[in-house]
Amino acid sequence: MSKRVLVTGGAGFVGSHLCKRLLDEGSDVLCVDNFFTGTRRNVLELLDNKHFELMRHDVTFPLHVEVDEIYNLACPASPVHYQFDPVQTTKTSVMGAINMLGLAKRLRVPILQASTSEVYGDPEVHPQQEAYWGHVNPIGPRSCYDEGKRCAETLFFDYRRQHDLKIKVIRIFNTYGPKMHPNDGRVVSNFVVQALQGRDITIYGDGSQTRSFCYVDDLVDAMIRMMGTDDSVTGPINTGNPVEFTIKQLAETVVDMVNTGSRVVYQPLPVDDPKQRRPDITKARDILGWEPKVQLREGLVKTIDYFESQLGTVAKAAE
Ligand code: NAD
Ligand code: UDP
Ligand code: UDP
Repeated sequence: MSKRVLVTGGAGFVGSHLCKRLLDEGSDVLCVDNFFTGTRRNVLELLDNKHFELMRHDVTFPLHVEVDEIYNLACPASPVHYQFDPVQTTKTSVMGAINMLGLAKRLRVPILQASTSEVYGDPEVHPQQEAYWGHVNPIGPRSCYDEGKRCAETLFFDYRRQHDLKIKVIRIFNTYGPKMHPNDGRVVSNFVVQALQGRDITIYGDGSQTRSFCYVDDLVDAMIRMMGTDDSVTGPINTGNPVEFTIKQLAETVVDMVNTGSRVVYQPLPVDDPKQRRPDITKARDILGWEPKVQLREGLVKTIDYFESQLGTVAKAAE
């Protein structure tokens, strides 16, 4: 019999790719989402599949279902969205984690947490290794997300220590690709949509801050490998692309690839915006036998194609 897999946040950007991949591998998928940032459109192609079920539910409330594995992704990931209702963001991370851990405890099934590089805050150690405890402002506008995700990690490890749960924690670094929300404010979607519409490309600050961009297919591959590890592997394990770019370089690359005459403009840097970020992926290489395969330009081609096909929708959403 096939496995039944729960994906919370499954109608979001990463979640929708994960659901598709799990179905392709022969699992039954239960996708749970409250559609805060995710949409039915992201999983439209899966709705006719009899092995796929979509349930509207908010993970801050208990969930009683029967499954064999849990991927916990429910949480807005873009600063614009997670700062829209910061209290709900912390609730989603913390109460969502408690409920999904309670579910995993009752069912005695493995549970994977989509944690984040934001647990390192504005890092003073570079590149970031899992052993680094981070440099996080507990009271700033990013804290609802950063501290919510840190507390979720704490809960995962306490459920491990107290209840011997099979936990898997990955720390995801900036990931991009098709099905990102066109207006979610993250840098890759912003730059690509701005360039496609011939609008100004908005660099925040002077563009010298760095990020490392992982294509979504590579991330999904790491998630599935992580779930497949034996019970002794808990993480946290960094998943991301170790090739680092300045935001200015990213802007130049997008302008070069889309070529609609967009100009680069400079806007103020948001509060607590991390200056640098690059994962040390030694653990992912050693434990998961994983490293990203898709280079930035290659991933951008697919992302640009996607947003181009969505331009009508993008224009409508911007009205
Ligand atoms: P996303 O916003 O596209 O997806 C999040 C999904 O969770 C959405 O479908 C949203 O509707 C749903 N959701 C939010 N609150 C919920 C709630 N209370 N109950 C049920 N569903 C809820 O973001 P994403 O980029 O796909 O991120 C997925 C996960 O990966 C998140 O947990 C995020 O923190 C983590 N992550 C992503 C990145 C990245 O670069 N994409 C980086 C680090 C961590
Ligand atoms: N929970 C859930 N589904 C389940 C089992 C538990 O949503 O199938 C929730 C439950 O409502 C509780 C949380 O998970 O709020 C934590 O459960 P746990 O058993 O760890 O704690 P307790 O119920 O003892 O507080
Ligand atoms: N950024 C930018 N222009 C934009 C959106 C973002 O210069 O239109 C910058 C942002 O200030 C940050 C980087 O790009 O330094 C990555 O931002 P994103 O919101 O994608 O992710 P995060 O800050 O969470 O890594």
